[in-house]
Amino acid sequence: MRSVVLFSYLLLGLTITVHGQSVIVSSPDPLFTPESVTTTTQAPIQTTPERDPNELPLGEECNEELCKLPNCRCSSTDIPGGLLPRNTPQFVTITFDDAVNVRNVMTYRSILYGRKNSNSCPAGATFYVSHEYTDYTLVNELYNQGYEIALNSISHRTPPDYWATASYDVIKEEIADQRIQISHFANISIESIKGVRLPFLQLAGNSSFQVMADYDLDYDSSWPTSAFREPGLWPYTLDYASIQDCMMPPCPTASIPKPWIQPLVSWTDLNGFPCAMADSCHFTPDLNDENAWYQFIVSNFERHYLGNRAPFGFHIHEWYLSSNPAVKAAFVRFMNLISNLPDVFMVNSSEVLDWVKNPIPVDEYKAKPCREWSRTICSSRPCGPLYGEHNWMIYYMSACTVCPRVYPWTGNHLGR
Ligand SMILES: [Zn+2]
Repeated sequence: MRSVVLFSYLLLGLTITVHGQSVIVSSPDPLFTPESVTTTTQAPIQTTPERDPNELPLGEECNEELCKLPNCRCSSTDIPGGLLPRNTPQFVTITFDDAVNVRNVMTYRSILYGRKNSNSCPAGATFYVSHEYTDYTLVNELYNQGYEIALNSISHRTPPDYWATASYDVIKEEIADQRIQISHFANISIESIKGVRLPFLQLAGNSSFQVMADYDLDYDSSWPTSAFREPGLWPYTLDYASIQDCMMPPCPTASIPKPWIQPLVSWTDLNGFPCAMADSCHFTPDLNDENAWYQFIVSNFERHYLGNRAPFGFHIHEWYLSSNPAVKAAFVRFMNLISNLPDVFMVNSSEVLDWVKNPIPVDEYKAKPCREWSRTICSSRPCGPLYGEHNWMIYYMSACTVCPRVYPWTGNHLGR
């Protein structure tokens, strides 16, 4: 099954011609599969001059008396603020991964732009952007449309084991530096970039959370849970030990205050198996059957909406929608459905945390003013040919500010 799926991914990798150069514009993440869990090895103990994970205090069992909002929350399926489900807004987080390019932005424009929630506020979505082949003028466009831009690493390297064993310094170069990189080339504020999703949903033990704490990144959205699907796990902090099941070890074990976990509450496929991303489910309805897909999405949504209202994540890669028009149509129908429900809100991922830190009843939430953001200018520039110092390839990219000297990469994230 896995080899078939991976092979189809290769077929779906799209090749386009940019400035006469052929480039692969879509590099989807391999699926989460049970095999990938068993083949993942535990991270070796890293010793770097600045950091020694051995010195971190282990997370202890969470103490609800000491761990209080807005800056601490025990891992739990309890609704923040002790609200009843019917008084709790049902958040829906739509997220897309990987490079943003001229091709996939067409889907984003057609299905997302102009969408509103029932309170007339703009509906949100979050883009976990990886650097290679990303068009930064389009990242600027997504940001100016009100969507959230987040991090999916500079190199997005394979194999996943690279991430499983990544040291603090590697994550700093891939993630903390990427924040500066996106801010620079897309001309968006560094503060607006808050979230992290590690490639392949492969956790790196404590490393990524230490980097996030040190570089003021607010949340991680890489950690799937299968055990806490019904009821779903709400976001929490790592001040204390997490109760979450570790599907892609190594998971963090230390007490690391500040960063939040937004768990990926798995969907349940037609045979009851968990899938962290909608496009990684094994037993799905027929890919040409729009009605069956609509039912499939709604039944996963209802586990949250009719349950403890833990945020419902719809995590997908654009290529899955553009290559399966019936799935895309079902997805649009689902978004149309929720935009008419008075207690459901499609939001940017960071808006979920804003609410969790300060939970208010749904009636109060609905009456709040809409989120605002300041538009930024993009003086679009085609850059290239740019030499890729890491792989001797030639790249082209579009940037909003200045062109780099060489193709940016880890260790030289601004391409100077
Ligand atoms: Zn990715």
